[in-house]
Amino acid sequence: MKLEQLRLDNSYVRELPADPEQHPGARQIYAACYSHIKPTPVRAPKLLACAHETATLLGLDTDECSTPAFADIFSGNTLLPGMQPYAACYGGHQFGHWAGQLGDGRAINLAEVINPQGQRWTLQLKGAGRTPYSRSADGRAVLRSSVREFLCSEAMHHLGIPTTRALSLIGAGEGVLRDMFYDGHPQIEPAAIVCRVAPSFTRFGNFELFKQRGDRHNLRLLADYTIRNDFPELLSPGETPSKETYLAWFREIVRRTAHMIVHWMRVGFVHGVMNTDNMSILGLTIDYGPYGWLEGYDPSWTPNTTDAQGRRYCFGNQALIGQWNLARLANALLPLVGATEPLQAALHSYRNDYASAYDAMMAAKLGLRTHQGEADDALLAAMHTMLSLTETDYTLFFRALADLPDTQDAEALLACIRPAWYAPQDIQGETRQQILDWLHRYLDRRREDAREPAERHAAMNAINPKYVLRNYLAQQAIDRAQAGDVSMVEQLLELLRHPYDEQPEHAHYAAKRPEWARVKAGCSMLSCSS
Ligand code: AMP
Ligand code: MG
Repeated sequence: MKLEQLRLDNSYVRELPADPEQHPGARQIYAACYSHIKPTPVRAPKLLACAHETATLLGLDTDECSTPAFADIFSGNTLLPGMQPYAACYGGHQFGHWAGQLGDGRAINLAEVINPQGQRWTLQLKGAGRTPYSRSADGRAVLRSSVREFLCSEAMHHLGIPTTRALSLIGAGEGVLRDMFYDGHPQIEPAAIVCRVAPSFTRFGNFELFKQRGDRHNLRLLADYTIRNDFPELLSPGETPSKETYLAWFREIVRRTAHMIVHWMRVGFVHGVMNTDNMSILGLTIDYGPYGWLEGYDPSWTPNTTDAQGRRYCFGNQALIGQWNLARLANALLPLVGATEPLQAALHSYRNDYASAYDAMMAAKLGLRTHQGEADDALLAAMHTMLSLTETDYTLFFRALADLPDTQDAEALLACIRPAWYAPQDIQGETRQQILDWLHRYLDRRREDAREPAERHAAMNAINPKYVLRNYLAQQAIDRAQAGDVSMVEQLLELLRHPYDEQPEHAHYAAKRPEWARVKAGCSMLSCSS
């Protein structure tokens, strides 16, 4: 359908309490879920890229995306009749500490679209200007971080990972001042706006803020609204949520969060800022900031330079942080459930949810039908040790494993894995032997699994992606986009629509990180400045 035919609704605004003031001045906002605020227009909006699948999700004709009206609406320059834009109020724990009120400092929700299937999708502009939650910042987003958010949202979706979606990337035609390295050298950078799409953008932090302020009334209103809209299966028709409902809801959030993080571990994704204001209540990957993709396997790797000291949000810590964040949420929901023990029990189920999903996922990555208890635990532990012997590309290693020949020929085995090594010349002596030992052990286990080879191969390639949004690829696309050429953004979007397919014509995009990218900003180290 056409843009003006979209069926819009504003249930969040209609059903939840608003901040009575209507100006963008920074302030503390109590007893409200959001503030009315309009996007600030930009000088010359220009569509840089758009994801047709997301348009289709909304029921929008894909041709509509290239119209001037589309660029006007999704840059925030015009509102469609019926849109009631707002910024949400939330708080959060940042790097382990309560940070107080945060809120949508540069995100503005336009409206909800009810698509022809009856699904509700919230449209949100990121980088649309100041809101009461902007504090001292400008409410804008730079092109580089917008390209990263746009591409990664869609890449994650096509990898089969729960995520917020991206509809469009629009250049603002104006610049913003950023001190990218926080070293006193600010520069003007091009600004952009991404339209994000999700059933809801509510975070753990929305509930935490009410709890911290002792506002039970609004805590309950927001919880009830969320359950009614996003977890309707927890209520029978006409039923109002009870203590049991809240508990079942929390239990479901635990389950979804565990599954989301298992997916991250599967593909080597490191979120980089797992603060509780960046944790979706729906278990979606949200807020693509200084995230990164594991290149050489290293559980202690973090892409976020702000996190380089503590490594709180490194690859290997994500499961634990998920649980820590859920504990903050449990505490926020305590006034609704009324008792600590059942919440604690639900929280404890995280370990099991995570461990069983993780084991099944790792077994599947290895092409095994099931995870066989302690024997496979030992096989996996040995694999992690083996991967740490020499810098080994996480994505390429698993993709190669599907092609591992069932042979005793050492050279044939090593040749299969070699493309994943960053320093193949180092694979000698003891290291070489340890790698071979593991490969033989793995082959023994594979034989025991007795799966038809073609079936195993297909199953492995359906879970181990060939293409991920490698840090240096995103940076190359950004460098070109900043010079006015968005063709690589389009190429990557197209490539990452089919991350599990061989796509031989694009094989160069599967290559391991080139040496120049090891220390280049944006490629393996990212600042929070965005
Ligand atoms: P993040 O670390 O990106 O999750 O952001 C944490 C908080 O800072 C959120 O409340 C954001 O809305 C806010 N924020 C980040 N960048 C800006 C900006 N350029 N302008 C206004 N608020 C911002
Ligand atoms: Mg955030």
